[in-house]
Amino acid sequence: MVIMAARFLDGAALARQIKLELRDRIAAFTAAQGRPPGLGIVLVGDDASSEIYVRNKLKSAGESGVRADLHRLPDTASLDEVLAAVQSLNASPDHDGILVQSPLPAALGRTAEQVVFDAVDPAKDVDGFHPENVGRLVQKRPHLVACTPLGVMELLERSGIAIDGAHAVVIGRSDIVGKPVSLLLMHRNATVTVCHSRTRGLAALCATADILVAAVGRTAFVTPDFVKPGATVIDVGINRVAEAATVERLYAAGSPRREEFARRGSLVVGDVHPGVWEVAGAMTPVPGGIGPLTIALLLSNTLKAAEARCSGSR
Ligand code: NAD
Repeated sequence: MVIMAARFLDGAALARQIKLELRDRIAAFTAAQGRPPGLGIVLVGDDASSEIYVRNKLKSAGESGVRADLHRLPDTASLDEVLAAVQSLNASPDHDGILVQSPLPAALGRTAEQVVFDAVDPAKDVDGFHPENVGRLVQKRPHLVACTPLGVMELLERSGIAIDGAHAVVIGRSDIVGKPVSLLLMHRNATVTVCHSRTRGLAALCATADILVAAVGRTAFVTPDFVKPGATVIDVGINRVAEAATVERLYAAGSPRREEFARRGSLVVGDVHPGVWEVAGAMTPVPGGIGPLTIALLLSNTLKAAEARCSGSR
């Protein structure tokens, strides 16, 4: 049985709160413009995880009063067909935000995502992946910023975690999570160390962090020896575990997670080992941590893009 000493940073509850706060602004926008903020989602192929993510995004948008339209393309679609879907959303007066669900099918080639993300109108780039939006973030004059890193910052700030002057260690340097979250932390006056697959002495470096952000994509990679007692640990990882042996290694007999595995046949597990609950001062769960916040911030970005377009500032 794991003793949970760390404070539980409830991302799911905060996501509900943010969506509640957005509802009034979305209603005001809809009343003023005679249409709701609009989000166009392009989904190519039939990746099972993408299906779930997109379903959750559509559901949350509907509940919040954002119009969300799904443009589905088969996994045989050509790059030109994907680009045409993006162009039609770029030109659409009713769509303020565009999201192309990652990953694109491997058959489209290694550079396809970059080509497609670059084709999105930066004013509608609610994922914050366009080089113009990334450049604005680097220069600390952000407009649309990637949703997961924004979710991490919202959770830290609204939970009262001290960021100014803190040492933040980020494990992962991806364009989607690691790099933007490092920049956001630096802009909030954290001293930031970015670690990656070639970092030497990773555990010891991480153990100097006041705030540790794990965005690695490896099940239970961050073990208690990575964590300074009392540190804040943000687990961004989403890893699906289907092997009973892994579940038994991570969770004690009788744990609700073992029961969940027995019911479902798989479990979603973060990058942080459950033993870290006993060392950290505050920590996010998986699921129910950063995942729901990512969707709440997507809706926030869509409203932001809509307001900026309609005020003529974009
Ligand atoms: P990625 O594969 O693009 O990047 C992983 C990073 O981890 C790389 O920069 C790599 O250098 C680093 N890394 C890999 N092995 C390492 C090692 N042994 N030691 C140190 N660093 C190592 O992944 P990503 O897109 O950044 O996503 C990371 C995780 O976050 C995944 O589990 C993903 O599913 C999850 N994710 C969650 C959300 C959410 O909404 N919660 C959103 C995006 C991604």
